[in-house]
Amino acid sequence: MSKNKTTCWNLENSYTKLPKRFFAHIHPTIVKDPAIVLFNEGLAEQLGLSCTSFQAEEVVKWLSGNAIPPQSKPLAQAYAGHQFGNFTRLGDGRAILLGEQITPEGHRVDIQLKGAGRTPYSRGGDGRAALGPMLREYIISEALHALHIPTTRSLAVVSTGESILREKELPGAILTRSASSHIRVGTFQYAAAWGSLDELQCLADYVIKRHYPNALNVDNRYIQLYKEVIDGQAALIAKWQLVGFVHGVMNTDNMTISGESIDYGPCAFMDAFDPATVFSSIDQTGRYAYGNQPAIGGWNLARFAEALLPLFHKEKERAIKIAQDVLSSYDDRFLEYWQNGMRSKLGLINKEPGDEKLISDLLDLMKKHKADYTNTFIALTNDKWGNHSIYNEKEFKQWHQRWKKRKNKQQASNKEIHTLMQSNNPAVIPRNHRVEEALNAAVEHGDTRVVKELVHVLSTPYAHTEEKASYQQASNADTPYRTFCGT
Ligand code: AMP
Ligand code: MG
Repeated sequence: MSKNKTTCWNLENSYTKLPKRFFAHIHPTIVKDPAIVLFNEGLAEQLGLSCTSFQAEEVVKWLSGNAIPPQSKPLAQAYAGHQFGNFTRLGDGRAILLGEQITPEGHRVDIQLKGAGRTPYSRGGDGRAALGPMLREYIISEALHALHIPTTRSLAVVSTGESILREKELPGAILTRSASSHIRVGTFQYAAAWGSLDELQCLADYVIKRHYPNALNVDNRYIQLYKEVIDGQAALIAKWQLVGFVHGVMNTDNMTISGESIDYGPCAFMDAFDPATVFSSIDQTGRYAYGNQPAIGGWNLARFAEALLPLFHKEKERAIKIAQDVLSSYDDRFLEYWQNGMRSKLGLINKEPGDEKLISDLLDLMKKHKADYTNTFIALTNDKWGNHSIYNEKEFKQWHQRWKKRKNKQQASNKEIHTLMQSNNPAVIPRNHRVEEALNAAVEHGDTRVVKELVHVLSTPYAHTEEKASYQQASNADTPYRTFCGT
């Protein structure tokens, strides 16, 4: 937190100016014996919270909720959401917003403590979080950020010195999360279901001012807001698909209005390419499978439109027509982002008619031969095949020739093409067994070195260096990887 104590926190509380329906003031619950497990120096600096001149005890108190930073008016946000398709009233059951930090560059960033105790929205939950899942969120969110994917960030994890009860007793922890805001599709659903029209409009105006000020110059700013959110989600989900990320719980309460990824519960990265990939043990029907993510994004955005309808037009029929017209652009927006990304992964600079087929043929072959998604693109980038079995397949060799012909007839130099591929094909992703190994060392043995090393390696995914090699192997476990929601 900066050299000058008085300027370290620079909190504002604009959310408290919204109607009271949208939040409840609540203080974090004191914890017994907090200690810092991970602290993100780089992020702290960006936030204007670099802690060099602060007493460690002071910092740990803030990050555990045992002390409230100056100017903070802590609150829990109210929202609703479709969880696996079922509409429910929710709200922050264990997260407390300390306020909005105004960064040295003038950005407004939410600072939230996750696992900070019960709130009026806890619905019988204990308000707490376990160390393993909070470290997991830290690792994955920071990995996504390094992969250039919009996401909430992780400033710190502190252990609480208390146990929490899940299937067994687990060490408790609190994550400090930053976000451009925590407003969700579910926040609008909540406003539409339980608020007045004025309250809904108030929320929409707040969001436009905070995230999409350009919409103020448009005839109907709410339609523009909808367009912007659709575009942001199309871009975001394309980025997930391009790196093989499976969010796992794309409920409407876990979809932000800002276009940042949020809530890293049962998420994981795919190894062998298969659109049916699901990791979450509770996703029995594959609703949130890798290949379903773009469609579910569209489904969630339709729910967003339903909430906004009265702001689109006072006549319902007209409003529905507007919503349908705007939403119909989503599939094309997604496809364009995704295909452009795929072209970059294949070193293709311009667009040619046969590209779509070239891409889909590659993915079909990868699926058929259970090729590792990330490592196939690394091999294509570096033209080093080692023991990649797909390369021994005749039909793949034929595809490879087609691709090389297409790639090499471009004007660009080989070096330019190679650089494009390197910066679009990560040398490393958070491999599931590596994440588990790191969590296990920290939770079972109190050894955080493995997590720290993993976070370090994942911080430069597009640097194709030697140190990455040992992090590239997929697990050779016989059973499929499973993630659990019991966080
Ligand atoms: P999530 O699955 O993490 O998106 O959470 C869904 C909802 O459950 C949110 O409203 C959370 O705040 C709430 N929740 C999750 N865990 C707890 C907990 N231990 N105590 C209270 N609320 C919780
Ligand atoms: Mg959530």
